[in-house]
Amino acid sequence: MTARILDGRAVGREVLAEVAERVRALRARGVAPRLAVVLVGDDPASAVYVRNKGRRAAEVGIDTVDLRLPAETTEADLLGRIGELAGDPSVHGILVQLPLPAHVDPQRVLRAIPPEKDVDGFHPQNMGQLVLGPPALVPCTPAGCMILLDRTGIDLAGKRAVVVGRSNIVGKPMAHLLLAADATVTIAHSRTRDLPSLVREADVVVAAVGRPGLVKGAWIREGAVVVDVGINRVDGKLVGDVEFAAAAERAAWITPVPGGVGPMTIACLMRNVAAAAEAAV
Ligand code: NAD
Repeated sequence: MTARILDGRAVGREVLAEVAERVRALRARGVAPRLAVVLVGDDPASAVYVRNKGRRAAEVGIDTVDLRLPAETTEADLLGRIGELAGDPSVHGILVQLPLPAHVDPQRVLRAIPPEKDVDGFHPQNMGQLVLGPPALVPCTPAGCMILLDRTGIDLAGKRAVVVGRSNIVGKPMAHLLLAADATVTIAHSRTRDLPSLVREADVVVAAVGRPGLVKGAWIREGAVVVDVGINRVDGKLVGDVEFAAAAERAAWITPVPGGVGPMTIACLMRNVAAAAEAAV
């Protein structure tokens, strides 16, 4: 079997077009959706992410407010600035770019964002709603993976899904979204024994670890769907966590890196901003 490509760039563009339509409708009602992006310090990768988010927001008609704070900003100062954004009715979404400097507790910061403005979906209330259902604002990367899975047309009910990685931002919410879609879900992590045999059983594999080629092509079951969240730089090139060429020989569908999950993440962020603004009207 040679896999069909799940093209995140194309699907992401479709999601952004839907968002642009929702933003037009909001503006027609006198609401200008606005996203506040908070960046602490001068991590170059974070600066690139923030710039890309600003660019996408502009494309779909979402206004952005950039709050750039020096690396030595205290936690109390940062919480104060988030409090101001929280109380500003013209701001519908607040995003704090991670990672934060070591002296700041990210959990305390994420909890300071009101759940209805938490467009990253990381607040405990939003994570709790994701587990209990129905979900409110859902973390963007797993939400994007679910849209890609939907595009395969495969009904996830009863399918065996393995999520490799258990981070709060990708692995855990991803597992809950798959569970809500009635898949039978296994979460694998750094202490899992015999990852190959788990992956061999899986109809759906989601890899979110951050290690190039961790998931071998030979482990992939014939006809499986492979979603590769990993972004790794190897010799100046971006690669995922899955051995792409070998996995594509066996899978029915696979996401490329780059051009798979990445563009979906940012599209889903814009969708969350539109949803937050709609809910505020
Ligand atoms: P993380 O470092 O927070 O979590 C990695 C997870 O992998 C951990 O839960 C750990 O238990 C697990 N792990 C480590 N070694 C393992 C092993 N040998 N076998 C099985 N599991 C193992 O990372 P994260 O924030 O979840 O990100 C994961 C990857 O996804 C990274 O490459 C990151 O850059 C990428 N990412 C991509 C997007 C996107 O939009 N495409 C978004 C977020 C993260």
